[in-house]
Amino acid sequence: MLPSRYFIDLTQPEIAAQFKQNPLVILPAGSVEQHGPHLPTGTDTFASAVIGHAVAERMDGLVLPATPFGVTPMHMPFEGTITLTPETYIRVVIETCVSTAKHGAKSLLILNWHEGNIPSLAIAAETLHREHDMTVLTVQACYVAEELYGESCNGLTHGGEIEALAVLAHRADLVHLDRIDYSSDHAHGHKMDKLRRTRSYQPVLTDIRSIAPTGWFGSPQHATAEKGTRMLAAIADAIAKEATEIFRQLDGVQGGAAEIKHLRQVG
Ligand SMILES: [Zn+2]
Repeated sequence: MLPSRYFIDLTQPEIAAQFKQNPLVILPAGSVEQHGPHLPTGTDTFASAVIGHAVAERMDGLVLPATPFGVTPMHMPFEGTITLTPETYIRVVIETCVSTAKHGAKSLLILNWHEGNIPSLAIAAETLHREHDMTVLTVQACYVAEELYGESCNGLTHGGEIEALAVLAHRADLVHLDRIDYSSDHAHGHKMDKLRRTRSYQPVLTDIRSIAPTGWFGSPQHATAEKGTRMLAAIADAIAKEATEIFRQLDGVQGGAAEIKHLRQVG
């Protein structure tokens, strides 16, 4: 029985044994960026790590020590934001995962909570699969949260209830609902979020102020730690179930990483 699913909590023999038992690693992807006066700058990083750990418990995997940083030029107008360039971020993601692939990790679940990381993660995922033989699946955990809780939480908004719940489930002491102030206009925020999340059209927005002039919008005032814990479990259940099924299908159609190696040798 492992004391924790966090890679950096474990010893070398524990990790070696776990890779032999189930070569699954989970890479949380988040960001460091302003989240208004009531949520910590690490909100996305906390959310991806804690959901990643809950998924790892359900799927018998390990949570890699990911960089806390993401690609978030959009939030740079506000203090509290630190952004990497896509090039740097892609390299960090690839080199982190390749290190574990060399020691036996074969399946990789990238669990992302920050929309600005999506294009970079797609490039990293391709490389990790095609050049390093990993079976890779990326889940946009923030959208899973929206599917499950969007209706009851007034949508997935920057600094809104869903994000407050994600932090409450993990570090309630970092959430300051008493400091909620200057939320941007909801109708405008929802309209702009909808505009940037369509499948067919992707406008480039100048910065977060084109969505929310004050940097955030939403209705987190009713968020509680208890609801956060329930949301966390529901998201982790949904992701573990779907990811297990998708990995099974991937193994079926591409024979897993071993088959790619075999085909390459034959070719
Ligand atoms: Zn966020």
